[in-house]
Amino acid sequence: MTDLSGKHALVTGGGGGIGAAIAFALADAGAHVTICGRRMEELEFTAERHGNIHAAAADVTDETSIGKLYMQAQKARGKFAIVVANAGAAGSAPAEDVSLELWDRTLAVNLTGAFLSVRPALAGMREQKWGRIVFTASTAGLKGYAYVAPYVAAKHGVIGLMRALAAETATTGITVNAVCPGFTETSLLDRAVDRIAAKTKVDEAEARKMLQANNPQGRFIQPQEVADAVLWLCAEGSAGITGQAISISGGETW
Ligand code: NAP
Repeated sequence: MTDLSGKHALVTGGGGGIGAAIAFALADAGAHVTICGRRMEELEFTAERHGNIHAAAADVTDETSIGKLYMQAQKARGKFAIVVANAGAAGSAPAEDVSLELWDRTLAVNLTGAFLSVRPALAGMREQKWGRIVFTASTAGLKGYAYVAPYVAAKHGVIGLMRALAAETATTGITVNAVCPGFTETSLLDRAVDRIAAKTKVDEAEARKMLQANNPQGRFIQPQEVADAVLWLCAEGSAGITGQAISISGGETW
């Protein structure tokens, strides 16, 4: 059993989907978990279901908002020993129709937001000579997909950021890794299914089958499977694992 008691963890985008599964896994292991996102109702709904989970509104694209979150959460529960930069969003369009607004927005949440979410934790982790940073990247950080160029570019950027931070922190007791889920059953996936169904004139079941076909196991990944990998990366025994992008995709990428 992984024991994270006494550790304070931040999970961005922890109100629902993959982030909520990660928050519950860390909280069940004994960590105090601060979850953040923009919608307080979703965060409170999740926090109400576990005594170790605490809700805080913050927008990861806004440096001031993240600064305020760090100040309040760390004052209440101590410095973050674990940060899971999980908040993300995807929009789709053929590359020639991608507006600068969609490009900027996608990079802001998935890449700049990931950087802003982990940067303020580094000094405290160095001081404690212990830290676990995990990015929720994507198989889109390891391979290309059509019609999601800004998302693929952002997630490749997240893998680069993870590798740079791993190199920089290698001797400090901090590990930095990324989990790379394939198509995972969350509301983000439901929105992608709706877009495909609307654009290609197939029904929802057919659109889901099209996405499942990307996974050699012929199924969607479950949020719990991603959470299990994050929990393992946070364990004491994972101290030697850093700079890795771990694909959770039924073998879609290697
Ligand atoms: P989700 O259910 O839509 O959750 C995304 C979370 O991110 C929400 O809680 C959302 O909360 C939060 N978020 C979005 N923009 C934010 C912002 N500016 N500031 C703070 N929080 C923000 O999607 P999910 O599938 O669980 O996605 C979680 C992560 O997994 C993302 O990074 C995604 O790219 C990645 N991923 C997903 C899949 C998949 O197939 N589902 C596959 C690979 C990777 P608010 O809206 O309240 O802010």
